[in-house]
Amino acid sequence: MLGGGQLGRMFAMAARRSGYRIAMFGDPADSPCGQVSDHSSPGQFTDWDALAAFAERVSVVTYEQENIPVSTIEFLQSRVPVFPGPELLRASQNRLLEKTTLRSIGIPTADFLRITSPDELARGLETFGGAGILKTVTMGYDGKGQVKLSSANDCVDVWNRLGVTEAILERLVDFQFELSIVASRFGDGSCHFFAPALNHHVNHILDVSISPVELITDSLAGQAREMARGILEHFGVIGVLCVEFFATRDGRLLVNEIAPRPHNSGHLTIEACASSQFEQQFRAVCGLPSGDVRPRSAAVMINLLGDHLLEVTPDRWSSVFAMPDVYVHLYGKAEARIGRKMGHLTVLAADSRTAEQRAREARRALGFNGP
Ligand code: AMP
Repeated sequence: MLGGGQLGRMFAMAARRSGYRIAMFGDPADSPCGQVSDHSSPGQFTDWDALAAFAERVSVVTYEQENIPVSTIEFLQSRVPVFPGPELLRASQNRLLEKTTLRSIGIPTADFLRITSPDELARGLETFGGAGILKTVTMGYDGKGQVKLSSANDCVDVWNRLGVTEAILERLVDFQFELSIVASRFGDGSCHFFAPALNHHVNHILDVSISPVELITDSLAGQAREMARGILEHFGVIGVLCVEFFATRDGRLLVNEIAPRPHNSGHLTIEACASSQFEQQFRAVCGLPSGDVRPRSAAVMINLLGDHLLEVTPDRWSSVFAMPDVYVHLYGKAEARIGRKMGHLTVLAADSRTAEQRAREARRALGFNGP
């Protein structure tokens, strides 16, 4: 596993249940994934000697975050199988390449323009009717490196503050809601899809995922699966990816982003499905057959950020651990910071509305004074 975050941790826990051993590269032994791995190499992704030693140790490599240099994947690939390969990673690291590639295979996205100067930004905003979102091309996640703009903004000032030489301006999508689908592809070419989830964001960070919901009609779910299939096949993926969409008010889907790995919105599959997104990832990369990805229940996942745990006490933890329908996940991070993902709660219930209510109650029981 390249990367020591919570996605690596949950992958390792799924794989270990089936007796696999995990070596993690890139973070310390006390990182979320390091804590549950058999071996940790806290090396840099550009330390070729350390990477070569790591490759000697393992039979197959996968990754849990997209900010790993493509050259690292190519280097490892010459020594040991790496899934998914570098093509998907390259596209998901660069918003321009990602959207251009999607469009080239007939998958709709928000309208976008490449921007390299304040003048281009001003003209672009005009093209998009005076509203848009300016994003850095690389290294953006959870709303970092992006600004919502209107014609009232001073383009020179905005451009200077973004501090890059190339950016992407997207038309502001007036979406009805956001959804995502986690999908996997195996060595035999078969594709498997989890039920899509409805996602609510707060401050650009995922807050709640709900599945199933009536808003995601069979027709929308079908569109989401076919677009995910198109992406899996185009990039020849073996492994798991997540596609995030905007659902427009006139019933269309636009792809916002691809994650070349399991995703926060798929955490509810740990309890809701026989084979979770992490189980699918380890099965796919280890050459095993797919598990059963059908939902067994309605489920809601609610994130626990540092912000939600400011008032938490041992008693409050106990009250949540006492709730029989609430599954508590904590990632073993030593320090809670605002905006940092510390864990999540999943609730299973007969219907999604009840599950969402219970999930919000459980988070409030931790002392969080909000929705
Ligand atoms: P991103 O980092 O691109 O996933 O964006 C984070 C969040 O910003 C998304 O989940 C949306 O809520 C919002 N957002 C991003 N791009 C757009 C857009 N073109 N139009 C409207 N909202 C957007």
